[in-house]
Amino acid sequence: MKPEIELIHYAIENELIDALDYDYAFNRLQTVLGWPMPYTPYEKDATPAQSVDTLLNPILNKALETGKIPRDTTQERDLFEAYLMDVFTPHPSAIQNRFESLERVSSEKATNDFYHRSKKSNYIKTSRIAKNLFYTVKSSYGDLHITINKSKPEKDPKAIATKKHKEDAYPQCLLCKENVGYYGHLSHPGRSNHRVIKVMLNQEPFYFQYSPYVYYNEHAIVFHENHIPMKITEKTFKRLFDFVDRFPHYFLGSNAALPIVGGSILNHEHYQGGRADFPIDHAQSFHKETYKAMSFELLNWPLSVLRIKGTKREALLDIAESFRRYFMNHGDESLNLIAKTDTHHNALTPILRKHPDESYTLLLALRNNRTSKAYPDGIFHPHPDKHHIKKENIGLIEVMGLAILPARLETAFDEIEQYLKGEKKTFEGIEPHKDWIQQTLEKKTGSDSLETLIRQEAGKVFIEALEDCGLYKQNASDKKKFKALLKGFLQWHSN
Ligand SMILES: [Zn+2]
Repeated sequence: MKPEIELIHYAIENELIDALDYDYAFNRLQTVLGWPMPYTPYEKDATPAQSVDTLLNPILNKALETGKIPRDTTQERDLFEAYLMDVFTPHPSAIQNRFESLERVSSEKATNDFYHRSKKSNYIKTSRIAKNLFYTVKSSYGDLHITINKSKPEKDPKAIATKKHKEDAYPQCLLCKENVGYYGHLSHPGRSNHRVIKVMLNQEPFYFQYSPYVYYNEHAIVFHENHIPMKITEKTFKRLFDFVDRFPHYFLGSNAALPIVGGSILNHEHYQGGRADFPIDHAQSFHKETYKAMSFELLNWPLSVLRIKGTKREALLDIAESFRRYFMNHGDESLNLIAKTDTHHNALTPILRKHPDESYTLLLALRNNRTSKAYPDGIFHPHPDKHHIKKENIGLIEVMGLAILPARLETAFDEIEQYLKGEKKTFEGIEPHKDWIQQTLEKKTGSDSLETLIRQEAGKVFIEALEDCGLYKQNASDKKKFKALLKGFLQWHSN
C-alpha cells in the first residue's frame, strides 16, 4: 500500500475521519499533494501499524522533490505537514459539536477525545517530544522535575529577519483564535490542522486548546477571544473556578501579568492547565492558620507561596481577591520588597486545582518585578550567576517545580562531560559554564557518573534560580516575616 493510501487508513483507524469520508479524503489529499495517486479502494481490515511519522516522512520527502515544500527545513516541512493533516481534521464547528456531545457524558471523555485527536493528527508531535530529556533532582523541597525541551523549534536567523512588525501581523499573536486553519510562514508556525474549543468562563468567551509542545500531560492553554493584555483581577479567580468546576480533572493557573515575573506572552490574556501532578503538590508547609473553614499554609518552597484550601467556592473567591488587594500594596524594605515606585511591582501567580472530594486548593505565588542597579534583570528573578542554566522568566510551570530548560543545554552537557574527562581541553563552546565547571563540577567528580553529576548540579542551579525569585527566603527571619504577612492579612480581612 502506498504511504498516501496508508495515511488515509491511519486517519480512519484513529478516528480522525470516518470510513464514509474515504473517497473525499482521497481526492482532497491528491489535490493538496499535487501529484496523481492511483485510486485504491478502502479496505476495512487494512490496519496500518505504523506511526504517523513513518507514514508522513516519505510523503514529505516527495513534496520537497516536487517543490510543494520550498526548502528542507523543519519549519517548512512542518507548515506543509499541518496543511496536509488538515485533510483529516474536521471543520472547527464539527470538532466543537463532538466535544460538547461527549461532554454530556463526561468532561473527561471530551478532553480525552480532543487530546487523542491532537496527538494523532500530529498537531502535538509525540515522537519529537519523546526526545526531550527528563529527570528528577532531589532537594530539601522534595523532588523537582527538569526537562530539556527540544520539541520547540529553534528559530533560524532568516525566520527572525522576516518577522513582521507587530501592528500588521496576522494573526496578531500565536494565541489568537484566528490561528485556526492558518497556513503560517517562516516566523509563524503552521496551524492548518489546529482546532480550539470555545468555553465560557465567568460568562466571557474563551478558547481551550492543547500546547503543541506539551511540557506535561495534557498541557492545555485557555485564551480569551480577544487579543487583550494579561491582567490578574477578581475576574481571573472567577474564570479559574469556572474552568476547574467544568473540568475538575484539570488544574488551571495564570502567569503573573507583569514583565520579568510573567510568562513569555503578556499581550494576550491566557491561562495554562492540564492533567498533571507537580512537585509543588507535594510541598510541605512551615506554618498553618485556619480561618473561616479554610486553611492557609506557607510552603517550604523556593518561591514564596501561600496555599489556601477550602470547600466553599464563594468563600475562596472572596479571600483570594482580598488577598490580591492586600498584597498589591504590601512592602518590606528589609527584604528589598517595594510594592510601588512609579509603577506597581507586586504580582501574583495563581494556580487552582479541584479535588475528587469537591474541595479546592489555590496556590498564590507572591512575585515582585522591581529591578535595581545590582540586579537590572530583576531583584526577584534568576540572578546572573544562574543565567548559564536559566535566564528566562520563571512562569507558573516552573513555579510548580518543573524546569523547562533550553535545548542548547543538551549539547553543553555533553561537551562539559568531555571537558571533565579531559577529552576536551578548552572552554570553547562552554564558556558561559566556566565558573560553574571550575568552582562546582570539578570539585565534585568522583562518586557519581559524570552525566549524573552534571544533571544533578544543573538541577541545583535551577533550584537556586527559583530561590532568587522568592520574596521571603527560607531562613528563620524571612519565614517570620512571611508569617506576619499572613497574620496581618487575616486580621485585616476579619475587620
Ligand atoms: Zn493574540
